[in-house]
Amino acid sequence: MKHNFGAGPCLLPPEVFAEASQAVLDFNDTGLSILEISHRSEEFEAVIEEAEALVRSLLDIPNDYSVMFLQGGGSQQFAMIPLNLLAEDKTAAYLDTGIWAKKAIQEAAKIGHAEVIASSAGASYSYIPKDFIVPTDAAYLHYTSNNTVYGTEWFETPKSSVPLVADMSSDIMSKQIDVSDFGLIYAGAQKNLGPAGVTVVIMKNELVGLSGRSIPKIFDYNEHIKAKSLYHTPPVFAIYVMLLNLRWLKRLGGIAYISNKNAIKAEMLYDEIDQNPLFIGTSAREDRSRMNITFLMRDKMGGSAFLKKADDKSRFLKLVEDNGIVGINGHRSAGGFRVSNYNALPISSMKVLVEVMQEFARKY
Ligand SMILES: *Cc1c(COP(=O)(O)O)cnc(C)c1O
Repeated sequence: MKHNFGAGPCLLPPEVFAEASQAVLDFNDTGLSILEISHRSEEFEAVIEEAEALVRSLLDIPNDYSVMFLQGGGSQQFAMIPLNLLAEDKTAAYLDTGIWAKKAIQEAAKIGHAEVIASSAGASYSYIPKDFIVPTDAAYLHYTSNNTVYGTEWFETPKSSVPLVADMSSDIMSKQIDVSDFGLIYAGAQKNLGPAGVTVVIMKNELVGLSGRSIPKIFDYNEHIKAKSLYHTPPVFAIYVMLLNLRWLKRLGGIAYISNKNAIKAEMLYDEIDQNPLFIGTSAREDRSRMNITFLMRDKMGGSAFLKKADDKSRFLKLVEDNGIVGINGHRSAGGFRVSNYNALPISSMKVLVEVMQEFARKY
């Protein structure tokens, strides 16, 4: 087995892969594959009900919220949110903290008025803005709770008097949150919940129809809520594998357990980055993400971040590869390295990576 630090689709626990493969051959002794059962069957109804119940219990979701399992990824939500929540005579407020936040802003601006109230773009998105004023008449405030590409994370939920909308694609269920702080939470499953193909949306019911717009049914939250995520064929297999992963998380002790484990793994790597003379972290210390850890290689001599020659990077990557580590190259737009520390990543994998970094420092 490899040590997979890829940013997404993510690794899942080995037992989830094993159970999922079995269900492809014979789902719950039905004599049918999970890939061929009807999404209207009793068997699948039980799957979707259990998945919703687990999302609700793991995140302790209040009763006046709906949970939806949709297709289209996090990216489709960039458009669905303004379509559903942004009235024509209103403005939506956005916090710009990275590539995904920017894409959400661009989509909202095509649909209505979107205003960026704070941005860290001028500093290569290396920190989380702390000083901003949310207009009290904004339709909503949108932010990205973890910035997958740049390795920064919000450790405090932004204060907002208007409905708060959060893209939690890369940190949902990695730590405790209070759902009642939010109007809407969305997350593509493939960063921390399951395989690609399903997107979880958690929405306060009072926000239904807020924009007053006439929108295609497929993009209308109300249609999906009314149909209990069966407005059309849902991503059956992706929902099932997500269910297996949610059961795994519940079995281990839920968010309290996993949040602690994630913190331990992140600290192991940040300690090594800070101690090792060949590496340097790229994000502001207080905003360092526990999910996506970004760093650069530097010259031994320099206190500042002198980039090492390309052949040093490839020498490191060779050592990494020889040790069965995959997926640590930085995002194409950010460079350097990015190590993703999602829920299913074992502590033992992080230990291997840290040892490889130590070995590299000894040798070069
Ligand atoms: C990956 C990612 C997205 C995009 O998700 P898709 O499912 O590929 O559309 C959006 N937001 C964040 C924070 C992400 O990490």
